[in-house]
Amino acid sequence: MLSHNLGYPRVGSQRELKKANEQFWAGKIDRDALLKAARSVRHQNWETQKNAGIDLIPSNDFSLYDQVLDTTLMVGAIPERYHQLIDGKSNRELDLYFAMARGVQREGIDIKAMEMTKWFDTNYHFLVPEFVVNQEFSRYSDKVIIEFEDARQKGILTKPVLVGPVTYLLLGKEKEKGFHRIDLLQNLLPVYISILKELSARGAAWVQLDEPGLVLDLNEKEKQAFQYAYTEIRKAVPELKILIATYFGALEDNLSVAAALPADALHIDVTRGSESLSGILENEDFVNSSRMLSLGVVDGRNIWKNDYRKSLAYINVAKEVLGENRLMIAPSSSLLHSPYDLELEKNEEILTPEIKDWMAFAKQKLHEVSALARLSGSDFQKDEAFKTNQKSIENRKNSALIHKPEVKNRVRNVNANDFERQSPFLIRQTVQQEKLKLPLFPSTTIGSFPQTNEVRQLRANLKKGILTVQEYENRIKEEIVSSLRWQEELGIDVLVHGEFERNDMVEYFGENLSGFAFTQNGWVQSYGSRCVKPPVIYGDVERPQAMTVKWSSFAQANSDKLVKGMLTGPVTILQWSFVRDDQPRKETAFQIALAIRDEVSDLEQAGIKVIQIDEPAIREGLPLRNKDWNNYLQWAVDAFRLSAAAVADQTQIHTHMCYSEFNDIIASIAALDADVITIETSRSQMELLDVFAEFEYPNEIGPGVYDIHSPRVPTVEEMVQLMEKALKVIPARNLWVNPDCGLKTRKWPETEAALRNMIAAANSLRKSV
Ligand code: GLN
Ligand code: ZN
Repeated sequence: MLSHNLGYPRVGSQRELKKANEQFWAGKIDRDALLKAARSVRHQNWETQKNAGIDLIPSNDFSLYDQVLDTTLMVGAIPERYHQLIDGKSNRELDLYFAMARGVQREGIDIKAMEMTKWFDTNYHFLVPEFVVNQEFSRYSDKVIIEFEDARQKGILTKPVLVGPVTYLLLGKEKEKGFHRIDLLQNLLPVYISILKELSARGAAWVQLDEPGLVLDLNEKEKQAFQYAYTEIRKAVPELKILIATYFGALEDNLSVAAALPADALHIDVTRGSESLSGILENEDFVNSSRMLSLGVVDGRNIWKNDYRKSLAYINVAKEVLGENRLMIAPSSSLLHSPYDLELEKNEEILTPEIKDWMAFAKQKLHEVSALARLSGSDFQKDEAFKTNQKSIENRKNSALIHKPEVKNRVRNVNANDFERQSPFLIRQTVQQEKLKLPLFPSTTIGSFPQTNEVRQLRANLKKGILTVQEYENRIKEEIVSSLRWQEELGIDVLVHGEFERNDMVEYFGENLSGFAFTQNGWVQSYGSRCVKPPVIYGDVERPQAMTVKWSSFAQANSDKLVKGMLTGPVTILQWSFVRDDQPRKETAFQIALAIRDEVSDLEQAGIKVIQIDEPAIREGLPLRNKDWNNYLQWAVDAFRLSAAAVADQTQIHTHMCYSEFNDIIASIAALDADVITIETSRSQMELLDVFAEFEYPNEIGPGVYDIHSPRVPTVEEMVQLMEKALKVIPARNLWVNPDCGLKTRKWPETEAALRNMIAAANSLRKSV
């Protein structure tokens, strides 16, 4: 049985590419040095895949920044504003490329970057293609050819990977009115065909066209576009073997379309919809053709060891219907979304051998794929590799590290009352007004203050043992006190302690909860050179002791003003971690919610009157298919309410969400029933507020009045104007004044100046109404 891979991580096992990119942008290395670093990552990746015994190894899955941007350059869909950067010399292609990715600002030139958005339901972000009426396409970048030849020189005949033409169009945006982007297919296809012909002429046997668009809700026209595109491609390059790759979900109502596409192979994601497998095996069109089926049985998006027994069962079902020769084995999706190599985790104190034995990163997943291909043709029960695998699976299933009956029981015993505050919002609002005595347009910030090198150094020195716990805590307390004095002096109404003790809003809580593990090298690309190292939730989650009470009560004891308690919400903790695959996400979310609930109660007990539970990731958890939204939103909202509802009416619960569109989820946002929600709105000039107004959102809102992503200091007038705009749609008694998000990434001087102006704006508004 043929084994293949859909794509490999590309930042480098030591994040070499990230570092090279950042040095290149800073002007510290030149183009040749960057390209050399890139080539070396590619070569290592190919080598690793070859050594793992993968039959068909991908090329062009590599990217300096983003594979969708690569495609945009390949087909020459370069937005007008970058045309001044095109000068026909191939050594300038990089400047153009990074300008599109990151924007440029230099003498006489100031061009914004392309918009970025999430790649399906992953944490990877791509650059959104921009289309205009009569959009033209022409071959521009030959990256795919260059990388194919590069591998061939190393003796590897690769399977080049391209973002498929229909998915490419679906992911883009019309920048002008009067057309639908799918109508551009006819113009686009000749470019794809020209590339495919050249690959074929150069000896490529297989090409992989990624069409994950096939797992989305599609209308008739979009479905037909797939049929049309692949019929044309087939006609133009009949000799080239085409594999169409779908992933991240089940095919569902697109199954008959996918099954009928004239290609040589279809890849399906068995980990996220085994019903696609049974569907294809029952599809006469497919079964009676000679098309191959690629089974994505090894999850490309998590860090868990594959269960060979389960995978082999799928493979054998398929084998019975299609026969061995028509099957391929693969990861479910590109391995881009899992970290490089588990063997790099050598520190047993950080990742214990017991937990490590349950895990597999990209490199290990390659070995799983080739092992499965081999085992499927043999009497696997007796095979050593199979037996070892099953031992790990059994150990994990039964481990006392994972299963805590009291935690499971507590979730089981949650009842309807646990989700409800004592009284409805309007009553709470009155009680809170009496108790908290806040002015009109109360001002606050979102939580974090600038993380200076000094503060980072404190945490690092604690970890290294250079500072004792006592010394460290004293220093953090000094930071807190000085920030409190400073906030008081500015005249902020609800203060924060500044989150100086936190490295990251999820990691901090993970480190304080049981059931979480961490890695040293488990980096995954989020966008461009940015990588994240998500915690691993492996077991039932419990809170061994209070996590934030010490800091918050210290802060409150040191100020006469209100100081907010700061927590990260259950959905965000879940969403930004690698999660368990042995129980539903909802179950894990509820366990975290109960831990947060206890923290909320402890904060209240300790005299904290305002508590914020951040949930920036609620929207990004939305499933790919519309029909699955309600179910998700229901439990996500419930998890938040469970974490927040234990407090008395007079305790004010805030939540915060950034970079979100609220249009289609406003009812759920309202259902969170937070007393106050702060949101990011300044970049949209308060337009994001309209949906709250239309919905007649009842609770209090703090629409961000300034963009914290830039060092720019907004003027008082600007912020007054934004608030006046907000006042047109939201009643004054419900409005707060605050920045868009936390100030962690800013420097002190601009933060101080911006907040000073913000308070002046709040004061001026109070006078005018
Ligand atoms: N409280 C967090 C902070 O201020 C919120 C961060 C976020 O929304 N991403 O840093
Ligand atoms: Zn935010």
